[in-house]
Amino acid sequence: MQEKLKKSRQLYSEAEKVIPGGVNSPVRAFKSVGSTPVFIKRGQGALIEDVDGNTYLDYVGSWGPLVLGHRHPKVMEALHQCLEQGTSFGAPTELETELARIIVDALPAMDMVRLVNSGTEATMSAIRLARGYTGRDKIVKFEGCYHGHADFLLIKAGSGALTLGVPTSPGVPQSTAEHTITVPFNHLDILRKVFEETGQEIAAVIVEPVPGNMGVVPPLPGYLKGLRALTREYGAVLIIDEVMTGFRSAYGGAQVLFDIEPDLTCLGKIIGGGLPVGAYGGKREIMSQVAPSGPVYQAGTLSGNPLAVTAGIATLKILQEEGVYEELETKSAQLEKGLREAAGAAGLNLIFKRVGSMLCTFFTSDDVYDFETATRSNTEQYAHFFKLMLDKGVYLAPSQYEAAFMSLAHTKEHIERTIEAAYHSFAEVARL
Ligand code: PMP
Repeated sequence: MQEKLKKSRQLYSEAEKVIPGGVNSPVRAFKSVGSTPVFIKRGQGALIEDVDGNTYLDYVGSWGPLVLGHRHPKVMEALHQCLEQGTSFGAPTELETELARIIVDALPAMDMVRLVNSGTEATMSAIRLARGYTGRDKIVKFEGCYHGHADFLLIKAGSGALTLGVPTSPGVPQSTAEHTITVPFNHLDILRKVFEETGQEIAAVIVEPVPGNMGVVPPLPGYLKGLRALTREYGAVLIIDEVMTGFRSAYGGAQVLFDIEPDLTCLGKIIGGGLPVGAYGGKREIMSQVAPSGPVYQAGTLSGNPLAVTAGIATLKILQEEGVYEELETKSAQLEKGLREAAGAAGLNLIFKRVGSMLCTFFTSDDVYDFETATRSNTEQYAHFFKLMLDKGVYLAPSQYEAAFMSLAHTKEHIERTIEAAYHSFAEVARL
């Protein structure tokens, strides 16, 4: 393994000298699996190749955007054509309206959308808008849900539902954290109690409809509808963060799958087809509060960047084709079934959670339905499994608390190869 990753190791030590932790986003550093990162050189379809010439089946897909796999020919062609025109103008282009139209048409609850550059910008702007619109300050988020790194969203839960927020990171002022209430996901009774006590002060509830940042934790039946009813009753804005699930759980997103009408939706990842993009949108009445049509300020020099928008349009057009989501479902179900059987055959009793093309293998035998149950997983076993899979040419997320993402580029043969590698890796983990 050491020899196989020689160049990656060298590049990492060079990177550490000039980039904090050697990476531009923490999870890439492989710290939670006690390893160092593989440096990637190129991708094609479901495969990535590292700087040492090793190839891997990629289940990270740039953390979700690459639902078509790497370098889909139609996306590449559109990008080449776009490049001929220029890279950024800071002025409106027809492309932006085209992408906005596609998004608005896909989401029944969305009348207008504003493009930004990342998921963080989308959630941060949506919260500001919800606060401006309601004139209230408090927000509710769920333990284990990640919505980017804006100060007021980087808050850890206290033990009780009404405990004031405790910042997860130094640099987040207590005065900011105290406006964020954190409650466990999938417990409507606790949320109801919060609303009964502080409902008139709550500007917004923000939720990942299928949390994918504590592993994958599907919502219990009726939970999201309950959220919708409660927020409506108290006049709080319901923000569904579909940065990960948007155009992945279904065409549009998880709100289409679960038939929920949010007030605002955040998007990212897939709508930029692998280039930096984010978006927030929703009801006209709320969105028209955004500058310059309204008083809530939000802006961006590179927002609506032509390259990002072009990759997004090309990707979403392919996702409109007949049978695409059925294919993703079939492939993902095959993988889940194979992994379950492989773990069983290797003598491991594990929990598998999947919604569409997002899948997680939890290294615990107890059911997982919230942050507390997710964190019962044996992360040492996961780390071991991760390294064995990597060595066998399967690139999984370098953390127990992330999703595996299936793409349309994964073939039956790729999936079989993954299951075979998993069987041998599970068997080694079982022998620990
Ligand atoms: N919301 C969710 C649900 C996410 O998964 C992420 C990132 N994985 C974000 C927001 C933040 O997006 P970005 O990393 O583009 O800022």
